[in-house]
Formats: sequence, C-alpha cells, structure tokens
Amino acid sequence: MADMSPAGSSAPVHTSTPWQRAATGANLLAPDGKLGVTIFEEMTTLAMSTGAINLGQGFPDEDGPAEMKAAAQAAIAEGANQYAPGKGIPQLREAVAHHQERFYGLAPDPLTEVVITTGATEAIAASLLAFVQPGDEVLTFEPFYDSYGAIIGLAGATHVTAPLLAPDFQPDLDALERAFSHRTRVVLLNNPHNPMGSVLTREALAKVVELATKYDAIIVSDEVYEHLTFGVAHLPVATLPGAAERTITISSAGKTFSFTGWKIGWLSGPAELVAAARTVKQFLSYSSGTPFQSAVAVGLALPDSFYAEIAGTLQHKRDILAEGLRAAGFGVYIPSGTYFINVDTAPLGISDAVDLARRLPDLVGVAAIPVPVFCHQEGAERTRSLLRFAFCKKTEVLQEAASRLATLKDRL
Ligand code: PMP
Ligand code: GLN
Repeated sequence: MADMSPAGSSAPVHTSTPWQRAATGANLLAPDGKLGVTIFEEMTTLAMSTGAINLGQGFPDEDGPAEMKAAAQAAIAEGANQYAPGKGIPQLREAVAHHQERFYGLAPDPLTEVVITTGATEAIAASLLAFVQPGDEVLTFEPFYDSYGAIIGLAGATHVTAPLLAPDFQPDLDALERAFSHRTRVVLLNNPHNPMGSVLTREALAKVVELATKYDAIIVSDEVYEHLTFGVAHLPVATLPGAAERTITISSAGKTFSFTGWKIGWLSGPAELVAAARTVKQFLSYSSGTPFQSAVAVGLALPDSFYAEIAGTLQHKRDILAEGLRAAGFGVYIPSGTYFINVDTAPLGISDAVDLARRLPDLVGVAAIPVPVFCHQEGAERTRSLLRFAFCKKTEVLQEAASRLATLKDRL
C-alpha cells in the first residue's frame, strides 16, 4: 500500500483496537503509525494551500436545482428544524419509493422498505454494521471507495477483494468467483464505480447474484452515481432475477442533485434487511437533516428532462477534460459513469502516482487523487501509475486545468 501523508491527527494508535483496524482498512495509518486524514482531505487541503484547481475530491463547483434550495429555505422558515422521524419523513420515503418504481420498476414499501440516512456514507455503515460480525468476510471490487475499508474494519470483518481490470475496469469473473467463500457475508458493490468510472455489465451483475445466492450472501449496492452515466443505462442489481430478496440498494442526493453538503442518503430493500440497518442507524445519527429531506423529495420528483440534462452536461465536461488529458500526454480511460476520469501517467515516464499527486499542485497548479490509495497492496501495485481527476467543475475551470496540465511534461 502506498504511504499516506504523515499529516493529520497525532492521536496515538493502540494496537488491536477497532480504530486501528478501521484505519488500516481505510489506509489512514501514516508511515509513523499515527492516524492520518483521508486522501480527499489531504488533497483538498493541499489544493487550498497552493491555490491549485481542485480536481481531487469529487464535489461540484455549482449548486443543484434552485427549486430544491428554495424548498430547503422554506422548510427552515416554516419551522422544520427539529428531529425528523428516525427512518425519515414520510414525504421523502415516498419520493424514494416512487423514484425506484419510475426508473427501475422496483416498488419498495415506503413504510417498511425505505430508510433515509445521513448521506450514503451512513447507509453503508449502518448496513455493514447490521449484517457483519467479526470473522465474516466482506467482498468488494478493487479499487474500492475509501469508506468501505474503514467500515469493514470497524465491523471487525475481513475485507476480501476482486480486481477490476483495465481498460474497461469490469471485474475478472474468475477472480470474483475465487474471492467468494462460505464466510462471505456481504458483497458490497459500487455501480457506477468510484474511482474507476465503470458501469457494471449485466453479465458481471448476474455473476454477483449467482455467487451471492450460492454462498447466501447479502448484496449491499452503492448506486450513488446511478444518474451519472454516459450512453449506457444504469442497471440496479436489485432488478436482476433472484437479487431483490437479498439486496440493499443505496443512493444519495449528493451526486444526482449536486448538494454533497446536505448529506441526505437512503437505502431500500426487503423489510427485514432494512429494519436491521435502521436499528443501527438509530445509534449512528438517530435521524438526518430535517429541512433538507423535504427539499430532496422535490428533487426526486423533477421531470425526466432534469435527469437527461445532468448526464448530458457531465458527458460534455468529461469530453473536455479527456481531450486536455490526452493532449498533456497521459493515457486516458474514458469512463461510462460517475464524474471521475482516470489516466495512466506511465506514458510521461511516471511510475508512482501517489508521489505525482503530492507534487502536482506545485508543479502545475492542479490537484488529483492517486488510485493506489483505493487499494490493498496487490491492487496498489496494479494501479501504481493511475491518477483520478474529477470533472464535476465549470467548463472554464476544466479548460484552465487542461492548459496547466499541458505544461507538465516540460516540468517533470
Ligand atoms: N459512495 C461512493 C461511491 C461515493 O463516491 C461517495 C461520495 N462521494 C459516497 C458513497 C458518499 O456519499 P454521501 O456524501 O452521500 O455520504
Ligand atoms: N466521494 C468523493 C470522492 O470520491 C469524496 C467524498 C469524501 O471526501 N468523503 O471524491
């Protein structure tokens, strides 16, 4: 595993504590054994201190729909400022249920099969802590989103991975089969995939369902980028035959509506799985931002044209940045989903993307995220030279970043 920054908290790390397991799983341990900060925080801090364009941490530089902001403001003005019901306000649970039906033909019962959470992050945590015991295995693809490693660590479970392979970053289905065992309790999917930008094929999803059924594992599917796909339709794993009864589906308002700071997410699935996750959620946050919940319900009811437009706008941004990255001399992997694009830095003679990411803000005034930090050791070797850029930024910002990156080859 690539070293993380020694920066961050100087809290001592006690061996064999859940904290240490979580820190190790999330790559939060600095080389000196102290707890560090996430790669997102490290790179955003670096971008701010150097004045670099921040294409590292994925957050849009423009707000989402005005009617949602107005709805949140009105909710605050009208006094929706005390605890919401633990499972979320009825209006938002109904909106989530309608959304699942409208886009995917799934029909969760808003009373028993939907829970509102504090972002997708809490939905993931509540699900894993509900389903997993020490000694169980949790299977994810690799690279994997950073909070997965941390929560698997906190749950005391063992994190097993199956690789996503270049150039399409789909899973190697044989390796996936080998990664399953009778100890596999949860398969934690992420589709579309952060950081690799892939949208899983029906074949890959069907294999996951087949193996989860064979080993009686629960599928937890993080679909926060469900509406950010380019020319391919997002297929929730819960829609595949035999999947719904063992699947918790997770999403969030952060990505679809460009309100990452509101931290409103949700999970849906069979009543008994949802009840278990809800029980844990009660003791994580109890309930989630009351005035934002009604505003997100407004967003989920927006017409199809809104959803088509966000994907179309992002695809255009993807293409602008891809062109700039190609011109800068990187090998570019075009993503089918999310707002992340990955490049291979090897054509520029670079073999260590972690080192480059730390130097990039000073070299050219752009920040990015190295892919190896989303991996265990073997995966980190495989992705050693890969760097992730976020393209959820204004067009002119992307153009400026591209022109700065064009100077990189002369500055190395
Ligand atoms: N899952 C993935 C794959 C993500 O990329 C992110 C966040 N950016 C999250 C979960 C967390 O979502 P939220 O901000 O709603 O907690
Ligand atoms: N999901 C965002 C990303 O991948 C970051 C969220 C965070 O900082 N935790 O960039």
